[in-house]
Amino acid sequence: MAQLLIRPSLNDHQVIADLLAPPPMPTIRRSRPPIAQLVADAHIAAQRPTLAESANDAGIPFLVDPTTVLLQSDVDPTSSWAKLPFASARPLSVDDIDVEGLVEQVVQFQMEQGATRIIAPYLYASEPGDPAFAMSIRLLASTAHYVRDNDVPLPVVAILCGQLRQFASAQALDLGVGRFVDAAEAHGVHTVGLCFSPVGTPGDSYSKLVGLFRAAARATRAPMPIVAWRQGIYGPALVAAGLAGYETGIGTGEQTNIARQQANRRAKDKARRTGGGPGTYLDQFGRSIPKPAAELLLGINEMRPKLMCDDEGCCPTVADTLDNGRPHAVRSRARQLAELAEQPHRRWRLHTVARHAEAAATLAKQANRVLESAAIKHKIGTKNLEALAQVMTELGQADQTSRSA
Ligand SMILES: [Zn+2]
Repeated sequence: MAQLLIRPSLNDHQVIADLLAPPPMPTIRRSRPPIAQLVADAHIAAQRPTLAESANDAGIPFLVDPTTVLLQSDVDPTSSWAKLPFASARPLSVDDIDVEGLVEQVVQFQMEQGATRIIAPYLYASEPGDPAFAMSIRLLASTAHYVRDNDVPLPVVAILCGQLRQFASAQALDLGVGRFVDAAEAHGVHTVGLCFSPVGTPGDSYSKLVGLFRAAARATRAPMPIVAWRQGIYGPALVAAGLAGYETGIGTGEQTNIARQQANRRAKDKARRTGGGPGTYLDQFGRSIPKPAAELLLGINEMRPKLMCDDEGCCPTVADTLDNGRPHAVRSRARQLAELAEQPHRRWRLHTVARHAEAAATLAKQANRVLESAAIKHKIGTKNLEALAQVMTELGQADQTSRSA
């Protein structure tokens, strides 16, 4: 079954402990935890040692994302990220990077935090010809060597982090994704994460999604598991298309925007850092929406039955979805992956996601009318849902054609 990787925020540690806790009665056969792997940003792992304990007690991998893309930007020197041993408050150019020194610090740091897999340091590349891309491959290779030479008994994970538009163009596939997965295979990397950016906004176009799924398909020609990184919006669709799993935040961090992530850490932009807490995850839309909007929609008879959580064990009442939105978000996503896993063929999985996206677009239009009449300034985007439905349908048709050919 495809894996759900969850990246908690700083204040999610208790939610994670509860989600991963064993059942209260030891006689009950333990079901699989809803989280397959726990991923903590480096600065959060450093502040929340209980995350490693929770993962360890549940017997699931614990990963510490070094978030080294922040080495490429100005960082507020007072921020918790800037205090990490391998951090730099000033942006580094590729030539400034001491490959072996960085790898040693990053690997040691992850081990000190209790990581059970090692994520190679990685940079954000604007295109396959960007020196930052070649550097990410050097860092991957050097991490694999370090782990082997020092008998670190942990699998290595490599993240391909790049601008979607450039990496997804048909001409760039072999130079970008192909080159990366080849290097990963050559160095015995256990899992590759695909972090294409920016991806996941409601305005994403059809051609953008075609590119995303084309790049993902190129990656899955490699033998190791490929997971979508920072991709809560299209994660289930990418799994339907053949990825081994996806990683997302809880009610937040569902889409990828590396440039914004870099900008958010700048001192001068401190005041602009994202407002508001996590949203409420609504399964039917495949994304979280601001809590006031969710409250309104779940509060009226016209919308409630269409949007409420249909698992009584997860949310006995609508209030549970609103008040315990974070556990609900994780459990909903885990249920979705379980449902996809039940389908016997990729074609069925693609079909399921396509129908789901179509229904979501229709429902979002209804919801938007309700939100508008209540003067709530949130609009659920439908462009990307319609585009997703189309792309999934076409991928399914292509499967059918190739089967009958
Ligand atoms: Zn629920």
